[in-house]
Amino acid sequence: TFEKSKGQHILKNPMLVESIVQKSGIKPTDVVLEIGPGTGNLTKKLLECAKSVVAVELDPRMVLELNRRFQGTSYASRLKVIQGDVLKCDLPYFDICVANIPYKISSPLTFKLLSHRPMFRCAVIMYQREFALRLVAQPGDSAYCRLSVNTQLLARVSHLLKVGKNNFRPPPKVDSSVVRIEPRRPLPPVSFKEWDGLIRVCFNKKNKTLGSLFKQKGVLALLEKNYKTLQSLRLSGNPEGIGEEKEITSEDVNVLADTGDDISMMGTDRDNRDEDEEMDTDSVNISEGSTFKDKILEILRQGNFLEKRASKLSQVDFLFLLSLFNKAGIHFS
Ligand code: SAM
Repeated sequence: TFEKSKGQHILKNPMLVESIVQKSGIKPTDVVLEIGPGTGNLTKKLLECAKSVVAVELDPRMVLELNRRFQGTSYASRLKVIQGDVLKCDLPYFDICVANIPYKISSPLTFKLLSHRPMFRCAVIMYQREFALRLVAQPGDSAYCRLSVNTQLLARVSHLLKVGKNNFRPPPKVDSSVVRIEPRRPLPPVSFKEWDGLIRVCFNKKNKTLGSLFKQKGVLALLEKNYKTLQSLRLSGNPEGIGEEKEITSEDVNVLADTGDDISMMGTDRDNRDEDEEMDTDSVNISEGSTFKDKILEILRQGNFLEKRASKLSQVDFLFLLSLFNKAGIHFS
């Protein structure tokens, strides 16, 4: 019996398993990480190509079955099964990750992998179709969102295979896609908290102009608070502290993954929401606030961003915008 709560949908199509393994480009010297091996259909194929496989499986019954399946075969010595929650355990060294995962951990798992060191070569992962489309979405695509931008900051992603429900037993309610994730080397030299802070503002309503998003009272208040904190640190002779960290840390993973929600960072409800939380500060201006607001709008104007919308901006655009803000002493974390 399979447990729905653990996302147990077993791959039953051997051709598909074969194709996933082929596309992952495993070398005979590779250590492969598999997440959620279940009954081991994919594991077996991985063991045929790799030096060894480390598999992390939550369900003790599956762990038993897996060990039983390979017991006494030549594979046994090259397979290590770790029983536990992949989100909670320390991952071992691996060159490649290949996995048919439970979809509810898609976002936190992706960012956990991307923060793993040393960096792996590539990950080939089955996701829910909608999630996969958001991962690979480009500026102008309807699925383009915070998830796309944050993932693509850290990795190159590409859509490999469309997979229908009937390739699984029991069939899930949703369609699936296999995606390839190749971490960028080197990573762009930005603070990920800063980056995500900017991206959150820009994608709060991805079809609004940045000019109107940055006029919001809450946004201005936050940026001004950060600005003043930094200024007082500078005055006290301690310019360290804000926007300095360059390496992604496990803390960043939580920031980026927005953990806790299975389809996190999809952003649809916010983007489609009609009510207008935005408050134009023109009407409530007092001199100090208006000076700061002018400063922000001037930065946007400088980079020609006032009329731009997040839905059409590329990685390079966002990196440029962040650098303009930072140069002016404006920080997002
Ligand atoms: N790899 C198998 C296959 O393709 O036939 C099974 C895939 S099934 C979609 C997901 C597997 O992940 C299940 O075996 C489930 O028990 C396991 N799992 C669920 N949550 C997990 C977690 N947090 N950490 C590790 N494994 C988990």
